[in-house]
Amino acid sequence: MLPFNKPYLSGEELEFIEDAINSGHLSGNGKYTKKCQNWFNTKYGFKHSLLTSSCTDALEMCAILLNIQPGDEVILPSYTFVSTANAFALRGAKLIFVDSRFDHPGVDERCIANAITEKTKAIVVVHYAGVACDMDYIMEVADKYEIPVVEDAAQAIDNFYISKSGERRALGSIGQLATFSFHETKNIISGEGGLLVINDSAYIDRAEIIWEKGTNRSSFFRGEINKYGWVDIGSSFLPSELTAAFLWGQLSNIRRIQQKRIGFYHTYLTELSEWANKLNIRIPFTPEYSIVNGHMFYLVCTSIEQRNALITHLKVNQIHAVFHYISLHKSDYYLKDNEDLSLPNCEKYSDCLVRLPLYYELDIQRIIDVVKKFKDE
Ligand SMILES: *Cc1c(COP(=O)(O)O)cnc(C)c1O
Repeated sequence: MLPFNKPYLSGEELEFIEDAINSGHLSGNGKYTKKCQNWFNTKYGFKHSLLTSSCTDALEMCAILLNIQPGDEVILPSYTFVSTANAFALRGAKLIFVDSRFDHPGVDERCIANAITEKTKAIVVVHYAGVACDMDYIMEVADKYEIPVVEDAAQAIDNFYISKSGERRALGSIGQLATFSFHETKNIISGEGGLLVINDSAYIDRAEIIWEKGTNRSSFFRGEINKYGWVDIGSSFLPSELTAAFLWGQLSNIRRIQQKRIGFYHTYLTELSEWANKLNIRIPFTPEYSIVNGHMFYLVCTSIEQRNALITHLKVNQIHAVFHYISLHKSDYYLKDNEDLSLPNCEKYSDCLVRLPLYYELDIQRIIDVVKKFKDE
């Protein structure tokens, strides 16, 4: 069976892990953690970065940093991974789910504007498939009401938003806070791993405290204070140096990894568009303000029956393709205390979207040949 995902190793990971072991510093916030964090800040213009054990952890840090209290409202897309919502649910927030766009699965920016109330304490956007949300529009609405924006950029490493003036800004550098994932299914991996980006300096000091179990240990290590202690809530959000060293082995090869993935994305796009068109199947749409980072290639079928038939056709031919999110507004957890909500675009993507394998060592021609043999019954 051709797998849906295969984690790619650059070949340098072991060398850096060995170096980390020999250095004698194995816990977090050592040499490799700092190397990775500085790399992100320099390359993408992030104000401050903190490696975390996962993107889920980084999102939980956001909810703590934004002081989300029970009853506060948080606006977020329903078509996303559970961690986007769970981080805020853990603090007792009321989740206000909004719909996806008609033309792609990312959040419909206009729905965000309509969902704002006096109780809104945060807006969380997700750059689905790495495709940028319309950040100029979102930041304008959020700034008008002084609501902080979190970019869940788990899938959006090395991608950019292009504003009307033509200015290119890295995804993750625009909201007050942003999060990335290095889970083995993402472009750049460390097994499990994540990053919290803090672009508003007002949050930096507290972020370091939350990261280090609610203590001011980071500032102690910088020699700013002569003892450290418990000053706030927090948890153990930082990864070990072994994880950071692995990540460094990936970041050092990001150009090569990205080129390969972006190349596959474009191959799928050119090779499958005529076939898709004939069956009324949609290929990915990229708005003019986004570029492509080769995270994912998906198709949107005309119905759940067609989608399931396509997945079965691929499976029979030894290719593992998968659907994606069950919209969170339809989840058992949400529905137990909320009314059934209708978000038609999310529901369509839950029913009709299928993702094709996309990874560094992909036999793409085999997949394309099999996909093209699929015809509607
Ligand atoms: C992968 C992903 C996450 C979770 O990342 P982890 O590092 O596994 O915690 C969160 N949000 C989105 C949109 C994701 O794709």
